[in-house]
Amino acid sequence: MLNVCYSPKYFAHTHTNSMEKLKAIADQLSLGDFVKFHEPDDLDCNLLYEIHSEKYVNAVLTGEPTKLATIAGFKPWCEQLKNAVLSINAGQIRAAELAFEHGISANIAQGFHHATYDFGGSFCTFNGLALIAKAFPSKRVFVLDCDQHMGDGTVELAS
Ligand SMILES: [Zn+2]
Repeated sequence: MLNVCYSPKYFAHTHTNSMEKLKAIADQLSLGDFVKFHEPDDLDCNLLYEIHSEKYVNAVLTGEPTKLATIAGFKPWCEQLKNAVLSINAGQIRAAELAFEHGISANIAQGFHHATYDFGGSFCTFNGLALIAKAFPSKRVFVLDCDQHMGDGTVELAS
């Protein structure tokens, strides 16, 4: 049984259909009998301030200033988008806890590795990889990033 984090909150209506793929993956996985789904709790937003600048985190949380709040690429900013991003990052924390408990887990997520200290980019709002390192400081974190290009945000935050 694979423990997988997912929530319908992971979706937000934006100018792209990018977030729709998360539900599609969850729907396909739910057809089998090898996945146990876990809905994450709310994210402790204080962790975000340990990774990103206060100015940037505040922008994403409030929607102001609009240019900074949407700099990662998803538009327009709205409460649903904010909640989706926070929920996806909360899923990172929950998935890590499940991995510590069971050896392996997954979070049906997107958008982490281009988020730097000052701002997100390329549809990566917060760096959910650095988030794990901050949330579990006693653990050693290894990032295996299989994207076709480099996760510049992760590289910056790891330096
Ligand atoms: Zn990328």
